[in-house]
Amino acid sequence: MLKLQNYINGKLVAPQNKQYIDNYNPATGAVYSLIPKSNKKDLEKAVEAAENAFLSWKNTPQEDRSNILLRIADLIEKDLHSLASAESFDNGKPVSLATKMDIPRAAQNFRFYATAALHNHTNTYQTDENILNYTLREPLGVVGCISPWNLPLYLFTWKIAPALASGNCVIAKPSEITPYTAFLLSKICIKAGLPAGVLNIVHGLGSEIGAEIVAHPQIKAISFTGGTQTGANIARVAAPMFKKLSLELGGKNPTIIFADADYQKALTGAVKAAFTNQGQICLCGSRIFIEKIIYEKFKKDFVEEVKKLIPASPASVNTNFGAVVSKEHLEKIISYVEIAKSEGGKILCGGTQTHPKGFENGYFFQPTVIEGLAYDCRTNQEEIFGAIATIQPFETEEEVLKYANSVRYGLSASLWTENNSRVQRMSKGLASGIVWVNCWLIRDLRTPFGGVKDSGMGREGGFEALNFFTEEKNICIYSTNV
Ligand code: NAD
Repeated sequence: MLKLQNYINGKLVAPQNKQYIDNYNPATGAVYSLIPKSNKKDLEKAVEAAENAFLSWKNTPQEDRSNILLRIADLIEKDLHSLASAESFDNGKPVSLATKMDIPRAAQNFRFYATAALHNHTNTYQTDENILNYTLREPLGVVGCISPWNLPLYLFTWKIAPALASGNCVIAKPSEITPYTAFLLSKICIKAGLPAGVLNIVHGLGSEIGAEIVAHPQIKAISFTGGTQTGANIARVAAPMFKKLSLELGGKNPTIIFADADYQKALTGAVKAAFTNQGQICLCGSRIFIEKIIYEKFKKDFVEEVKKLIPASPASVNTNFGAVVSKEHLEKIISYVEIAKSEGGKILCGGTQTHPKGFENGYFFQPTVIEGLAYDCRTNQEEIFGAIATIQPFETEEEVLKYANSVRYGLSASLWTENNSRVQRMSKGLASGIVWVNCWLIRDLRTPFGGVKDSGMGREGGFEALNFFTEEKNICIYSTNV
């Protein structure tokens, strides 16, 4: 059985307690590898290595740091197909999606931040003729990056790359549910010549090694992506220690379709937004609001399109819908079908587990569409994070804004209309960090990313991330002999 290893001080090592956790293949339900069940002792080694590496990494010329990160990007691209297969095997997502989206984005993350750091600059302020202020941006030291299972290497590298590019040393923890590509990244970093201790990857449970990272006094910042409840738990520990915190949390996003939208594009866009990655993207549009005059036609066409998503082997290049990530997650999704039914929802398609031929023990769920629910029922308020979309009619902008903004989350919204003044009114009115107009999931790496309300705190992406991983120092020079 394949045993994953921690990556500490430049080496692949076993956990000190020699304990491991089972890692499942979601398509078969079988254990296919073992993950280190790391604890405080492993973390101490990782922090010691990171501390020892910090001064030298911080003082490495930016161009040299960038070149190493660019080599990592090159190696990820070179291994595109094997990494995509690994991601699909570990997570259950279609290999075509991992090949098109997850792995290319992981390489882009390194490339983007390697080069962005070369273009970063600081400010000067002439206060009067005697006084000059200028600012320095300095890395924080050792920082922690904790990521979830839905876009494993994509999100893991989105945190690590800006932290490293700006001169920090990193302790990173991937999700214990999808650790495989993070392990493969360790090997790539060794190959790329990343100096020992600069990046340390520790595997294990969130409640154990994750919590230890958050509480460690020498770890100066936590960049976390995951559930809202976990984010709250992390903030409770890290905030009184005055750690810098970036929290990218849950979502329950609206897709809003007006009758004046380009119908075909809105239809395709709504299906994609609801069901990409089996609905397991924090940005998925799981509440679909359709203007009443097109509701019945849209409903019929939408369900017809959704039925074309066929749960099947994630490894097959023709598969458009894979397995959900775990047995527990499948059970959670199914429990929401029951909740929806008890709330008066009518299941228009899907609603049950399914067993593709050859994958009888896998965690497959039929993409599901539900109508007839109130906007404020549990199904429409709580994050399910699986392939369940609800559809609801609306008549006015005010009404749909009320529905859209009624949830505790505020990550993204997608709006479909050809009316420009409506675009501006609605974009202003929507309580979310991102509004996509006539599109979904276009993510320019330069743009800020993050949520409002319970979807998180802070912004990642672009220079925001480089700023997060650095502290600005103001230097004020008074000169008498001007
Ligand atoms: P999760 O919160 O259960 O776990 C995320 C990570 O945190 C994992 O690595 C886990 O091991 C670790 N963890 C758990 N408890 C911890 C603790 N007490 N201290 C430190 N670390 C701990 O989330 P998940 O189930 O892996 O991911 C799904 C959630 O992530 C959804 O809510 C989804 O919306 C959210 N998400 C948000 C974004 C975003 O950018 N806003 C992106 C992707 C996923």
